[in-house]
Amino acid sequence: MKTVYGPVPSWRLGASLGIDPICQRKICSFDCIYCQLGKTTELTVKRREFVTVDTVLTDLKEALQRVTSICAVTFSGTGEPELASNLGELIIEVRKVAPKDVPVVVLTNSSLMNQKQVRKDLSHADMVVAKLDAPNRQLFQQISQPHPSIDYHEMLDGMRKFKQEFTGKYTLQMMFTQENKNFAREMASRAKEIKPDDIQLDTPIRPSKTLPLTPQEMMEVKKHFNEFNTISVYEAQKVKAKPINPKETNKRRPLK
Ligand code: SF4
Repeated sequence: MKTVYGPVPSWRLGASLGIDPICQRKICSFDCIYCQLGKTTELTVKRREFVTVDTVLTDLKEALQRVTSICAVTFSGTGEPELASNLGELIIEVRKVAPKDVPVVVLTNSSLMNQKQVRKDLSHADMVVAKLDAPNRQLFQQISQPHPSIDYHEMLDGMRKFKQEFTGKYTLQMMFTQENKNFAREMASRAKEIKPDDIQLDTPIRPSKTLPLTPQEMMEVKKHFNEFNTISVYEAQKVKAKPINPKETNKRRPLK
């Protein structure tokens, strides 16, 4: 399995070359009800090395020779990037190889951000997109289905701390589903506590077990976020990107 895939068309980042620091069956600290990768096969919070830095750099150099233009290099893939114990080193080394004008981004579910070492690892990125899908513990359990050791309020605390420490761009990503669509005001209050640079308002339009909200419903959600710089999935420009390896890409980004 290659550690580099895409580029994929990301409504948030443009043509994004993906780096998968997990690179196995889906291993995550959550089992989100809308996950496009299906059921979590290993629900864990234990950090470990899944792929070596050398493997990623070899795959990345090969991919960069084959792509014409990209807008971002993004850590994401078959599970939660924070679980990779070598994430910090991976970001540092990828930053040296990636084109200078292209941001190195990490997409994370924020679950381990309350750990100092995880925040230190993430701090090497140019941009971190941190997920928060629930305004309270009960909805967190229902939507994110986290590992039993993850405490909602400790996670929030980690998200706030990381905002204070991080000098790069901090984007909050909120996924709206039938379960939390009536809690947009409470979600906006949580966002106020975290103070992100901007917010991506999302709904699962990719294949998943959960039905997305309609554009009308997302407009209603957005009304609660007036004081933030927001982008909503239905308002984003369409992006085109041709993956260099469709089979590898489809493992992380299943087609409709
Ligand atoms: S955090 Fe991401 S990879 Fe993990 S279950 Fe949720 S959507 Fe899937």
